[in-house]
Amino acid sequence: MEKVLIIDDSIFNVKMLKDLLDKEYKIIYATNGSDGFEIAKVQQPSLILLDIEMPGQNGFQIMEKLQEDNETQQIPVVFLTGVNDTISEEKAFFCGAVDYIRKPYYGNVVRARVRTHVNMYRYRRMLETQMYIDVITGLYTRVHCIGYMDKLWQSCIQEKNPFSLGVVDIDYFKRVNDTYGHQEGDRVLGIVAEIMKATMPKENNYIARMGGEEFFILLHGEKSAKAAEIMTTVCSAVGHRNILQDDKKNYINVTISIGGGTVIPSSRDSLKSFIVLADKMLYKAKNNGRNQVVWM
Ligand code: GH3
Ligand code: MG
Ligand code: MG
Ligand code: MG
Repeated sequence: MEKVLIIDDSIFNVKMLKDLLDKEYKIIYATNGSDGFEIAKVQQPSLILLDIEMPGQNGFQIMEKLQEDNETQQIPVVFLTGVNDTISEEKAFFCGAVDYIRKPYYGNVVRARVRTHVNMYRYRRMLETQMYIDVITGLYTRVHCIGYMDKLWQSCIQEKNPFSLGVVDIDYFKRVNDTYGHQEGDRVLGIVAEIMKATMPKENNYIARMGGEEFFILLHGEKSAKAAEIMTTVCSAVGHRNILQDDKKNYINVTISIGGGTVIPSSRDSLKSFIVLADKMLYKAKNNGRNQVVWM
């Protein structure tokens, strides 16, 4: 059941809305704005019904807080209020509300509008998941990585933090497909992804599938030697795991090559050129015989 959060100082209003909606949704509520904000952060409801006039912080102030916080800004907010003037209504939309419902409430209309917004939010999340999470591996997609990498690079410039990129490519993957079929190839992709993810440090764990059998591993805050060590661990973890068997149940080696490096970027450096360099290191790793890391 999707969750709907009611923030209203009148327990009478809360109860009325709850009775109206609790067949379809899990209703949670707060009777003041600051509790409501905290609950929204933790519970991640699919919709917030927000009253305007409340003691302490009013609805507009809470709306502002919700919009400023990364964890709540995407949650749709409907103002549900007795404040019956067009200025407030305009202000609510201006603040980012998706809807504005005035008292007196008509039960079926409230229900229908809530349903519309909850459904739209559900579709939006579904699309975002498809856009950002790769179906075969469960890793981040190229689209996600491009945005994330750019932000990470900028923050490393500002904080004078080391930035590392490892470009990973599965060795002789075409053979796997040609010999065992595409479906088996997909299964191998999934397992390689899982091993890489499990081998990376928990708190510094970003891997994206950039396309085909190529991945980017990003690290921040690790010195070059440590980053190279992590990449070597990842590389040998894949190489040592029995992933694929031939018809005689003999294990076939599946290995990866990694090229990359670490830099403390300055505003004069370009991320694009750094990616090109990392790619060159991968090329070296392939030429040196694969199943290895070449780090600059
Ligand atoms: P190298 O060691 O030089 O990287 O050799 P390789 O065979 O891995 O390199 P190449 O780039 O020639 O082949 C990559 C292959 O990856 C081609 C394609 O058959 C396969 N591939 C790409 N995307 C997918 C996918 O989504 N699923 C499967 N099963 N295979 C894929
Ligand atoms: Mg009120
Ligand atoms: Mg390959
Ligand atoms: Mg490739």
